[in-house]
Amino acid sequence: MSTQPDCIFCKIVAGELPASIVYQDAQMVVFRDIAPKAEVHLLAIPRKHIASLDDLAANDAELIAHMMLKLPELAREQGLTDGYRTIINTGAGGGQVVFHLHIHLLGGKRLPGF
Ligand code: AMP
Repeated sequence: MSTQPDCIFCKIVAGELPASIVYQDAQMVVFRDIAPKAEVHLLAIPRKHIASLDDLAANDAELIAHMMLKLPELAREQGLTDGYRTIINTGAGGGQVVFHLHIHLLGGKRLPGF
């Protein structure tokens, strides 16, 4: 599994940095955002280090499909029966701060307008 020594999300995957993990399997880890922007704010990340959506390769197709298919299940488990929002920020201009690919899953009260 490729990891990046200075990457905080790789450290969460490795168990070297604490996180409130709500789901994990062989390919991905999902944890609560440390500064939630809504009642429910999860981050879904691949275990393997991929810096951003720009760095996703053709052979990551199965991985990203697996992650996307898991999101509705996670939303249901979090009680988001009325809908939810998914966001991928890409690059500095896209608002990406942590350069390990992650999908934000937001919902519930305090979901800001868009
Ligand atoms: P982005 O702007 O898309 O790169 O989002 C990065 C997100 O990671 C932000 O919403 C941060 O609050 C969140 N974040 C940063 N460090 C941690 C951490 N150690 N545990 C959980 N979430 C984090």
